[in-house]
Amino acid sequence: MSVIAPARTYEVKTFGCQMNVHDSERLRGSLEAAGLVEAEDGAPDVVVINTCAVRENADQRLYGHLGQLAKTKRERPGFQIAVGGCLAQKDRSTIVERAPWVDVVFGTHNIGSLPTLLERSRHNGEAEVEILEALEVFPSTLPSKRESTYAGWVSISVGCNNTCTFCIVPSLRGKERDRRPGDVLAELQALVDDGVVEVTLLGQNVNSYGVEFGDRLAFGKLLRAAGEIDGLERIRFTSPHPAAFTDDVIDAMAETDAVMPQLHMPLQSGSDRVLRAMRRSYRSTRFLGILDRVRERIPHAAITTDIIVGFPGETEEDFAETLRVVEASRFASAFTFQYSIRPGTPAATMPDQVPKEVVQERFERLVALQDRIAFEENRAQVGRTVDVLVSNSEGRKDVTTHRLSGRAEDNRLVHFAPGADVPRPGDVVTVAVTHAAPFHLIADDGPVALRRTRAGDAWDRAQADSCAVPAPVAGGGPRPVSLGLPVLRAT
Ligand code: SF4
Repeated sequence: MSVIAPARTYEVKTFGCQMNVHDSERLRGSLEAAGLVEAEDGAPDVVVINTCAVRENADQRLYGHLGQLAKTKRERPGFQIAVGGCLAQKDRSTIVERAPWVDVVFGTHNIGSLPTLLERSRHNGEAEVEILEALEVFPSTLPSKRESTYAGWVSISVGCNNTCTFCIVPSLRGKERDRRPGDVLAELQALVDDGVVEVTLLGQNVNSYGVEFGDRLAFGKLLRAAGEIDGLERIRFTSPHPAAFTDDVIDAMAETDAVMPQLHMPLQSGSDRVLRAMRRSYRSTRFLGILDRVRERIPHAAITTDIIVGFPGETEEDFAETLRVVEASRFASAFTFQYSIRPGTPAATMPDQVPKEVVQERFERLVALQDRIAFEENRAQVGRTVDVLVSNSEGRKDVTTHRLSGRAEDNRLVHFAPGADVPRPGDVVTVAVTHAAPFHLIADDGPVALRRTRAGDAWDRAQADSCAVPAPVAGGGPRPVSLGLPVLRAT
């Protein structure tokens, strides 16, 4: 007689950058391929923490979490804890020394081994630590469980050949490894077949794509080839490096309809002296020149950036240079960071660390400047008509205002009043912008047009699946999207 046992459940907690968010999709996919299902009751059998070593106090956060999980571990037989990601790659067995109740530690190069390591640990009754120095399987070839029915992330490269002195990535993620263009395009096609209409190409240094197989023009060519995929409506990429940002990429962006009028390009500092100390090989003139050329070819492009304030040795004159470049750049938004020491990076041991209160004061001036610019740039959008890809909901206030949300082609967040015909996540509405705020736009006059998309159909099917209601799939239409809904395992 066979006994139906519920599948073991898991929860993945993600810290850090988009690369980690994408890795977590792979972790979920690998766990589900091994028969686990996502916990819905807040009491998973396995907790996976995907860590980040870049953010401040990353280790304190990790050990804080692990401390809380120790109690569950004592009380629930069979409960397992796995720690992966950049901090695991860096700290390795130190993690099980400091938190001996952890079952599995795995690195950034072996996320596909997680199910095996969990099983091995269960069987052997001891912690498994497995860190690989180099990638064996490109993460994108692992199964994935996507968060969204309409948008997907595709890694085109991992690792980085640069040596920015504030960054831990090169030592943790290794040298740049590029996927073959054919593999990337096949994955894009598979996503489109699943109903996806928007894709973000990911790489630590996305525009140096091709360096491994010796084609300097590979990134621009990839953008053009992706633009040929029927049904792929929106292509974005992150993050490009200004030093490798060549005009053929600007041409490819401008000449490929599906590449969105948007660019996220880290500035980090406006001071050439600080850029040199950061070992970032471009200078502010080059950075501003790229923006000019992008805007010449793509006039409505929204440009965003990352900036670090208070890098070791940054003087008031250096900081004034950053303010100057920010003023000239007219960023639509910026992620601003206060420099803080990351152990293991060259900058951590540089002299002239800037006192915390000085960093804080400069940071506030920068944020005030950027907020003013963002508000001005958003006000200039009022009256424009924009196409918004409707999201699951990006605004906490949506419930009270009855607005829906989504992203315009230039990636601006738009909250809009839906008409009588309510769009589904993944559909596209055309709306006129009526109001602006520093961080979003509002369109309160209702959509001028609603376009129902394959992504909206995929959402419908996923909803129907989750209610166990069979949804019709048109002949030859896209395949249903598996959201990893609960399954029963016969043993
Ligand atoms: S380009 Fe610099 S900041 Fe970006 S991943 Fe490489 S080393 Fe880090």
